[in-house]
Amino acid sequence: MEGLEGRLDIIFDLDDTLVNTGEFYRKISEQVGNWVVEHINRRLEDPAVQKITLEQYLVWHDEIDTKMADDNPEFQAWRYPLSHNETYLRCCQLTGLIPDKIEERRVYSMADRVYDFPEKHRLIDGALTVIKTLKSQGHRLHIYSWGKTTIQQDKIRETGIGKDFDQIHVVPVKDKNAIKRIVAEFATDSSPEQIWVIGDSLRKDILPAVQLGYNAIHIGSKNGWSHDHAKVDTTKFYALPNVVHVPALISCHYRNSEIARQFENSLKVK
Ligand SMILES: [Mg+2]
Repeated sequence: MEGLEGRLDIIFDLDDTLVNTGEFYRKISEQVGNWVVEHINRRLEDPAVQKITLEQYLVWHDEIDTKMADDNPEFQAWRYPLSHNETYLRCCQLTGLIPDKIEERRVYSMADRVYDFPEKHRLIDGALTVIKTLKSQGHRLHIYSWGKTTIQQDKIRETGIGKDFDQIHVVPVKDKNAIKRIVAEFATDSSPEQIWVIGDSLRKDILPAVQLGYNAIHIGSKNGWSHDHAKVDTTKFYALPNVVHVPALISCHYRNSEIARQFENSLKVK
């Protein structure tokens, strides 16, 4: 559709779209991984048994964490620490060591610190300008976040972005029905062409939006998680390396979708 002006409903994912989150998970995974690798390798007495590396630990952890998230689409705060615990058990199994209950508890509590990381949550560079720009253009802005309400509210409070949003939705499951419910309640006066979903998860943000016929922008994230991957027809959504370019892309789209594709292509990493 060309030349549409007026108010839009713009639905933003929070984690790794507006707020840095993946980097905390990565840092904690490396800390826990280093600790486990050191403790397991220290206990290995048989020189024939190969020592474990941090890289191996991180690959196994990603496999286990992704499988647990696939099996439990509802957000569970215990999943991430428990997935480290399971990885510790896998390391013991592969090296023939008997798991140590104290070590197991230590692994769980180290990983659980991801929810009260000592550093403050930070907005992604340029995100505040994006929010202010879209707000000043009169659009309705929504935060649409997967997680536990108290954890996500802490991030919104620390970054001070709550006041710029018309609605904040923290949901335990992100799928087609979750977005549909938000639109049915808060955006009944918008047509699908006036609704945008912006996020870094192909699986949880982009696929449901495309299935519903809404506009969607996938934001590239350097801390991507295997669980977030999905196959989606690339002609049905836009992809940007960073949230910074969102207002320009939306404005191009309503001038002419060809221009928007040219803009998108000009930002692709060569
Ligand atoms: Mg996200």
